[in-house]
Amino acid sequence: MEKEEAKRHGRRLVLVVYPFQGHINPMLQIATILYSKDFSITVLHPEFNSPNHSNHPDFSFVSIPSGLSNVSASPADIVATISAINRSCEAPFQRCLEQILEAEDPHDRVAGVIYDGFMHFAQRVANHLKLPGISMCTSAAASLFAYAVSRHPDGHGYIPCQDSLSQLDQEPELEALKLKDIIESAAGNPTLLELRAILKETTKNASAIIVNTIHFLEQKALTKVPKYFGNPIFPIGPFHKLAPSSSSSLLEEDTNCISWLDKQALESVIYVSFGSMTSMDENELLEIASGLASSEQPFLWVVRPGSVRGSEWVEELLSESFWKRVEERRGCIVKWAPQKEVLAHGAVGGFWSHCGWNSTLESVCEGVPMLCRPIFGDQTLNVRYVCDVWKTGLEMEGVLERGKIEKGIRRLMIDSEGLEIRQRAKGLKEKANFCLSEDGSSYNALNELVQHILSS
Ligand code: UDP
Repeated sequence: MEKEEAKRHGRRLVLVVYPFQGHINPMLQIATILYSKDFSITVLHPEFNSPNHSNHPDFSFVSIPSGLSNVSASPADIVATISAINRSCEAPFQRCLEQILEAEDPHDRVAGVIYDGFMHFAQRVANHLKLPGISMCTSAAASLFAYAVSRHPDGHGYIPCQDSLSQLDQEPELEALKLKDIIESAAGNPTLLELRAILKETTKNASAIIVNTIHFLEQKALTKVPKYFGNPIFPIGPFHKLAPSSSSSLLEEDTNCISWLDKQALESVIYVSFGSMTSMDENELLEIASGLASSEQPFLWVVRPGSVRGSEWVEELLSESFWKRVEERRGCIVKWAPQKEVLAHGAVGGFWSHCGWNSTLESVCEGVPMLCRPIFGDQTLNVRYVCDVWKTGLEMEGVLERGKIEKGIRRLMIDSEGLEIRQRAKGLKEKANFCLSEDGSSYNALNELVQHILSS
């Protein structure tokens, strides 16, 4: 009865964004999904890397005055970046939320806070204000094992117990993920261990976990993860297919590449993009250019401004013969692509990717096989799913070298060796579509999530 009285019966959700591209996209997608389920949406975000409010006229946006600017997006600084954002956002976020609650319309009350898992302060504030907090995981569900079975911040022993890791390794699907390597990668890094311990604690305190994944992709992880955290988990992905939302790109998308793709043969193009954060040196750029040219496959290559260390833009770095190829329409280079549209285009036959989780899911949903070159963080987990569990891609390991690149592209897209990989990728696309249809796993998990929010 008491619990009944404490219910807020609201339909407004406050969403808290971690302000980097691979996190902004899924947060605005979940906003669109929940809006379509009759929730009203308030999006709170730090003032830097602000999403474009005018692209999402149905939502209210509030910029959290964190005082931060010029925050590093470099993979090497990621732990420090997460800590700095959490430190500086907690107090202003609490003030924003208090103001929202003071001014709330009795017919439009706040039902809860959905926060990007990296914005862990939001759970503490939600607890303080007696609101349900829901943690959103923008990576694979299996990435949550890195917190669940984390070592103590002093580096000794595991939380919760020493043998958790060996239990996980008994499942072939989880063993293939090499979780031990991921968990142990934090050993000797006290700041990362400390962050993982905080993430574990806040995730346990959440009333639920939403994951941008599909049940059949991660069956074993989705069975095991709730046992560590003790709260329900809702795998309602792939978000971008469930409720396609307006673009939330921080960089302008160059749509000319779509008309270029229109002129290419079916499944002939290798699409190359390493996401929004990774960088390369000049030599790697040159090896990629040579490898692409000698593969003889048409290519669409995203080279983000600033992604080649030490160079503003690449015009003068690449050879004349390379640009001639581009002029002859055998290649197309853009600074930022409308990636989901690119992957859905019939001309694209392969995706050379860093295996960010959004890119991985987007590729799965379009049945595009992957050439994988993970660089940091959860990408090293995602590549194991692609290459060893789903077997829809090939890994390119070691130093980048033109011959290796040429061979990798041809193996994936042309040679009979890659035929099964290409067929399996198409099979995953069909399964993903089924999960979104009525009574599919994601469709059902979304309805359960709505019920969970309304009854919290
Ligand atoms: N993306 C895009 N255009 C590009 C490259 C990437 O729209 O040229 C999008 C991509 O569709 C994905 C996101 O940026 O949704 C990147 O997220 P991911 O998790 O793959 O990698 P991250 O950038 O976080 O490393």
